[in-house]
Amino acid sequence: MTGWVKIVGLGPGSDDLITPQVSDAVAQASDVIGYIPYVARIAPRAGLTLHPSDNRVELDRARHALSLALQGHKVAVVSSGDPGVFAMASALFEALEDGPASWRDLDIEVLPGITAMLAAAARVGAPLGHDFCVINLSDNLKPWTLIEKRLQLAVEGDFAMAFYNPRSKSRPEGFARALDLLQMACGDARPVVFARAVSTPDEQISIVPLTEARPEMADMRTVVILGASNTRIIEGARRRIVYTPRSVLP
Ligand code: SAH
Repeated sequence: MTGWVKIVGLGPGSDDLITPQVSDAVAQASDVIGYIPYVARIAPRAGLTLHPSDNRVELDRARHALSLALQGHKVAVVSSGDPGVFAMASALFEALEDGPASWRDLDIEVLPGITAMLAAAARVGAPLGHDFCVINLSDNLKPWTLIEKRLQLAVEGDFAMAFYNPRSKSRPEGFARALDLLQMACGDARPVVFARAVSTPDEQISIVPLTEARPEMADMRTVVILGASNTRIIEGARRRIVYTPRSVLP
């Protein structure tokens, strides 16, 4: 039996937002590996072994997937959103690079998914319609000084920004510092979108001016989108639309 590893993105939450390609890979898999809440989204069936594991063991998980594939298993490694965005695809290739040469001959594929910021942006309009950048606000895997530098430079470049992992119970102060920095550096009331649990039954979206954004508005299930200086709001009868125009004229 020939094994394989497919690193798949399950999208932001709703089954409607899983691509057919990812559904097929999961249907053909003999093993599913991933963080507990993501593996919980996979329906059990005969012939499928689920391997849920705790957070922060990405490299162990990746090695497990590669060893199983070498033994002939068909392994789906699941991430939420897109597997290449702050998720398992990089972890798998890190393990591959440092692992036995035999792993490099394996059939390994990355299957994309809809990442949280795109699902969130679509809910409110088109805040990422012009140039934007994406920053992970967790300082678990990089120093806080680097996060601050990137925030400063992103403001200087007048990018819209999407922030992943904004605030956790173990890191309550980082997002407060990021907001302080952004409020000082931008100095205006551009819109901020707090999009929580997008496309799940717990979804909550709020749109506030940067001057009124507060740290408690975000948690680990929230992606935050900050507009660029020309991002604007259209007040509609049904809802507020946030968008960034396609052009910045000289
Ligand atoms: N690979 C994932 C991101 C993993 S990092 C992706 O592409 O979406 C985890 C962070 O993603 C969370 O802290 C949150 O910022 C964001 N996130 C994931 N799913 C989300 C959802 N349904 N709604 C809002 N934010 C989400």
